[in-house]
Amino acid sequence: MIVHYGYLDASGEYFITVDDSKCSVCIEKGCIKACPKSIFMESENDYGEKVMMVKDEVRKMLKYICAECKPSVNRPPLPCVTACPYDAITHSW
Ligand code: SF4
Ligand code: SF4
Repeated sequence: MIVHYGYLDASGEYFITVDDSKCSVCIEKGCIKACPKSIFMESENDYGEKVMMVKDEVRKMLKYICAECKPSVNRPPLPCVTACPYDAITHSW
């Protein structure tokens, strides 16, 4: 299952997507270690499978929370995306 966490407003769409078919919560948990804002958390989906989620309390603030990783010029690769060995994380902006 592909799960989108985030929101849209007048300025754009701010979603982080986790593809559960790629993420079976790897041992390294690179996304948790790499994110300076600690937005990821391990949980279970409706089928009792382990999944990586974006914490509920940050989902409506992603534009601001991720701003440090997304300078308007010379944007480097995103730590969370780079850290995932299974290419399970994508960002809409
Ligand atoms: S690094 Fe990727 S595969 Fe590992 S837990 Fe995070 S999202 Fe899942
Ligand atoms: S872009 Fe940065 S702050 Fe946002 S989820 Fe990825 S590592 Fe965390």
